[in-house]
Amino acid sequence: MINFNKNYSLYIHIPWCLKKCPYCDFFSKILIKKNKKIQFKYINSLLLDLEKTLTFFKKKIYIKSIFFGGGTPSLMYGKYISFLLKEIRKKVYISKLAEITIEINPNSISENQIINYVNNGINRFSIGVQSFNNRNLKNLGRLHSAEEAINAIYILKKNNISNINIDMMYGIPGQSLNDSYQDLCKAIFFKPNHISWYQLTIEKNTIFEKYKPKNLLNDDILWKMFLQGKKLFFQNGYFQYEISSFVRNYKYKCKHNLNYWYFGNYLGIGCNAHSKITLFDNKIIRIIKNNNIKQYINGNFITSINTLLYQDKIFEFFLNRFRLYNKINKKEFVKSTGIKVINITSMIDKALKLNYLKEDNNFWYITNKGHLYLNDLLEIFI
Ligand code: SF4
Repeated sequence: MINFNKNYSLYIHIPWCLKKCPYCDFFSKILIKKNKKIQFKYINSLLLDLEKTLTFFKKKIYIKSIFFGGGTPSLMYGKYISFLLKEIRKKVYISKLAEITIEINPNSISENQIINYVNNGINRFSIGVQSFNNRNLKNLGRLHSAEEAINAIYILKKNNISNINIDMMYGIPGQSLNDSYQDLCKAIFFKPNHISWYQLTIEKNTIFEKYKPKNLLNDDILWKMFLQGKKLFFQNGYFQYEISSFVRNYKYKCKHNLNYWYFGNYLGIGCNAHSKITLFDNKIIRIIKNNNIKQYINGNFITSINTLLYQDKIFEFFLNRFRLYNKINKKEFVKSTGIKVINITSMIDKALKLNYLKEDNNFWYITNKGHLYLNDLLEIFI
C-alpha cells in the first residue's frame, strides 16, 4: 500500500541531444533527424509508462511539480509537449501552484516554442548556458554560442517569464580566473531569479574521462574561482540555498529539486528515469526505467524494482539533505526513513566530534567545515 500523505513530483526524461557534450554523463542519444514519428511514439510511450507506474497507487495522486529534463527537451515539437501535459492532467491531479519546468538549450529554442510552452502551463525555464565565453564554450564541447544564449534569455525576459534558471559552470578547461568572473557577472547582469553554478567534474563514462582535456584546472585556481564566485553572488543579492543553487528571492527556490533534496517521493517516466515511492510500512522502492530507447518505445518500460536497504535509507537521506544549507529537523529524518534517531547515534556523534555537525534537541546543523568536507561527512553515514 502506498503512503498517500505525500505529494509527488514527476520527472519526464527526453533522451535526445544534438550532440553529446564531452563532460556529460546524463542519459542521452544523438538525434540524427528531428523525426515527428519517433517523437510521437515516444510521447505515447511516456503516457503508457505513466499509466503503468500509477498502478502502484490505488487512488489518483497529487503532483506538486513536473520537470522536463534530458537530454534536450526543447528539441521536442511544442505540440507534443502540450499533448503530453494535457493527457497527464487526465491521469493525475496537478496542483494549481505546481512548478512546471522545462530545460532548454540556447540553440534549440524559438520564441514561438516558448510561447507555446507557457500557454500549456510551463512556468519555469532552465537554460543551459554554462559560459558566455565562446572559446570556453568550445572547450566544453557546447554547440551554442554566447550570442545564442543571450538571445534566448532576452526572449524569455521579453515574454515576462520571471522564473528563470541559468545553468553556469566553472573549472572549464583553459578558463582563467577572470573568465570565470566575467561569466558570472554576465549571468547576474540578466538578473535571473535562479542561477545553478557547478564546478566541472570529470564523470565516469564520458568523453572527457576517456580523452582527458588539456588545460584542466588545478585545485588552487578552482578554489579561487569558488571563493570569488560566492562573493560575487552575495554582493549582488543572491542567497545560496543548496551547494550549487543561488536565488535572488527564496520564493524562486526550485521546488522540484527541493523535493529530491528533502528525500521526497517522485515518479520518473522516460528512458533511464527513476521513481522513488514510500510505502505505508516505510519500505522505500526505487523503480528504474529502461535505457534502451527502442525497447522503451516497444513498451518495455521497467528494468528493475529495488527496495532500499536500511543502511541505504540513512545514507541517501543525508546524501540529499546535506546539499541544503538549512537546519535539519530530526523529525524529518524519522518521517522520511522510518528509522529512529537513536539508531544513528554513533554516526551523528562521530560527525559532531569532527565538528561537521552541531545539534540541539530538535535539529542538526551542518557547519562550514561540514560543507567543505562534505564527502568525508557523508562517508560516516555509508
Ligand atoms: S546538451 Fe545537456 S544533456 Fe545533452 S549532452 Fe550536452 S550537457 Fe548532456
